[in-house]
Amino acid sequence: MSSFQEQQAKVEMNVYARAPITFVSGAGCVLTDDAGKTYLDMLAGIAVASLGHCHPDVVAAIRDQAGTLDHISNLYTHPLQVELAQRLVAINGWGRVFFSNSGAEANECALKLARRVSIERHGVARTRVVALEGSFHGRTFATLAATGQPGKHARFRPLPDWFTHVPADDPEALAAAVDDGVAAVLLEVVQGEGGVRPISDAMLVTARERCDAVGAILIIDEVQTGIGRTGSWFAYQQTPVVPDVVTLAKALGGGLPIGACIASEAVASAFAPGDHATTFGGGPIQCAAALATLQTIERDALITNAQQRGTQLLEGLRAIGDPRIAEVRGRGLLVGVKLTAPIADHVVVAARDLGVILGTAGPDVLRFAPPLIVSVAQIDEALAVTAKALAEVG
Ligand SMILES: *Cc1c(COP(=O)(O)O)cnc(C)c1O
Repeated sequence: MSSFQEQQAKVEMNVYARAPITFVSGAGCVLTDDAGKTYLDMLAGIAVASLGHCHPDVVAAIRDQAGTLDHISNLYTHPLQVELAQRLVAINGWGRVFFSNSGAEANECALKLARRVSIERHGVARTRVVALEGSFHGRTFATLAATGQPGKHARFRPLPDWFTHVPADDPEALAAAVDDGVAAVLLEVVQGEGGVRPISDAMLVTARERCDAVGAILIIDEVQTGIGRTGSWFAYQQTPVVPDVVTLAKALGGGLPIGACIASEAVASAFAPGDHATTFGGGPIQCAAALATLQTIERDALITNAQQRGTQLLEGLRAIGDPRIAEVRGRGLLVGVKLTAPIADHVVVAARDLGVILGTAGPDVLRFAPPLIVSVAQIDEALAVTAKALAEVG
């Protein structure tokens, strides 16, 4: 363990099981540690650094904005927040935006909206929200309660008791759970933390139909899938459903903390001044970084690259043919490898020693979420190292 980590363990809270590695710089898809060793980053933070590390356009935008206008609070207006909201509404095709600092806060905004909508539509505060087993929606009390992973709840009970979890692929159970006490259905199109599991169209269509039938709203959490990662700006755009609310964060700011909750006009109008707020949300520097990120994704056709490199990755992983690979699944550049044994951590360590950073999504799933700029040769390198790492983990 490096001395940095010994120092860290003395002064920071003990909540992360960190890898024994200290990164000091990054460029594109390559990270460098404090010993000068380089690594191919196939995780991009956790699906954050979509343009890779220190992309020159994002660096320039942050530098310029830091020397022009740093912070003003949301008591005033600055042009970049308006421009970013306009861009998000344009790529989404509808809605109004609230800017947050994180994914959990974007989901909190959506849940507060659902409460207000139920009061306006039905004259009563519906508290119930239906979510899926295996989901992940954040670490605040409400979003932790929304998260369909009981193991994460255990040490924090009692939690808000508003959430009903149904199996992630049981449309009948979902339909039955969405009755007229329900304010919202909250789900991911591809469960990220929950094993890189795509949710079936049947589930999504059932959610949409039942929400419409009972006057609830459909919230799609695109915190991990959004901003081009799955091969479209938003993952729902490849499905038959359109939600009422979309939440974003991870990749939006090109590495800076910014989230967004986009709601349809009808839903957004349930908020009035004073109903919701944040000190830092949508600050000038974060917005400058986000605008540069969106512009670069568009200019460099990175959504097309996510589709093509995603197919290369998916097919290459399937071609490895290791008997411990049970399934390769995902959309675009969010790909999971389900293993037949809980050895994902061991494979990650072996790959790291070989110079490739992979992730996990549970004990038996490897997660790939590389920058959207990843090249053909870099995917090939990641495939070769993954095969070798699997072979090394006996
Ligand atoms: C990461 C994540 C969140 C939480 O985002 P934070 O920025 O860590 O609060 C919520 N939903 C999904 C799907 C995520 O992947």
